Amino acid sequence: MIFGIDIGGTTVKIGAVENGCIIDKYEIPTCKDTLFLDICTFLRKYIKEKEIPEIEGIGFGIPGNVIKNYIYNMPNIGLKNIDLNQEIKKYFPNVEIAAQNDANVAALGEMLYNKEYQNACMITLGTGVGCGIVLDGKVLEGCHGDAGEVGHMGIATEYNFSCTCGLKGCLETVASATGIVRLAKYHYNEYPTQLKETFTAKDVFDLARKNDPLCSFVLDKVGFYIAKCIAMLAVTVDVDVYYIGGGVSKAGDILIQAIEKHYQNLSHYAVKNVKIEAAKLLNDAGMLGAAGLIQRD
Ligand SMILES: [Zn+2]
Repeated sequence: MIFGIDIGGTTVKIGAVENGCIIDKYEIPTCKDTLFLDICTFLRKYIKEKEIPEIEGIGFGIPGNVIKNYIYNMPNIGLKNIDLNQEIKKYFPNVEIAAQNDANVAALGEMLYNKEYQNACMITLGTGVGCGIVLDGKVLEGCHGDAGEVGHMGIATEYNFSCTCGLKGCLETVASATGIVRLAKYHYNEYPTQLKETFTAKDVFDLARKNDPLCSFVLDKVGFYIAKCIAMLAVTVDVDVYYIGGGVSKAGDILIQAIEKHYQNLSHYAVKNVKIEAAKLLNDAGMLGAAGLIQRD
C-alpha cells in the first residue's frame, strides 16, 4: 500500500492507494505545530487497525516550495525549512518518501487517472495560477522547484497589474479568481452588465453564459491569456494534453472554448493539434498524484 498525502491550508487529505486506486480517504485538520506528527500518528493507527502488512511509500503534495524532499516554505501554513525525510523517518524508518509541490502532484494525479497520456500539463486556476508538467510520466521539478510556475509568466503586460510576487503583468493577475474580478472591475464602465457591485469570478462566468457584454468580454480576455500561456508551454515542453483545473475551471465548456478559440491563432503550426480539456479529478488528484510519486520512482 502507498499513502498519498495532500497537505492543504486547512485540511490534510490522506488517501490509501492500491494499484493506482484510492481505496480509503480521510481528512484531518492542518495544525501548524503538529502537522507531521498528526499525519504519522494517523497513518500508524490506520495501519494497525487495518492490519496492513507492508507500506511501499508515502508521497506528499506540498503547498509551497519543495526540492528533493526538503520543504523550503509553506507560506499558507507558516512553516519553513523542513527536512521531510527526517520528519517522517522518525516514525517510518524504512519507508520510501517523496514530495512535490501541489500543482505538480495534481498534474500527475490527473495524468494517472486519465491513463491516456504520459506527457501532460495541468494549469490550476484558483486563488493563484499554478501548473504541473509531467514528462514521460515523471513530474518536472526544476532546479529551483519552480518548473511550471506559469502564473508568473509576464504575459498580461497590457494591464501590468502588480502581482503578489513583486512582478507586474503576471498571468495570475488576470486569470486567477481574484484576477478575473480585477479585470471585470477594470472594464466595468466600458460595457453594459448585470454584475452587481460586489461579485465573484463565478458570477462573471455565469453571466458570460447569458451573453452579458462585460462578462463575455472578460471571459474572452481570460481565454486569450491562458491560450497564450499554453502556446508558450507548447513550444517549450510539447505535451499531448493540457488540463485546466482548479476552482475557476468549474466554468467548464465556455472557458475551454474561449481558450481553444485563441489557441488556434496563437500557437505555432506544429503544435495546433493538442488537447485542451477540463480536469476530471477534482478533490482526489492531489492524493492520487502524491501516491503516484512513489509508484513512478
Ligand atoms: Zn507574479
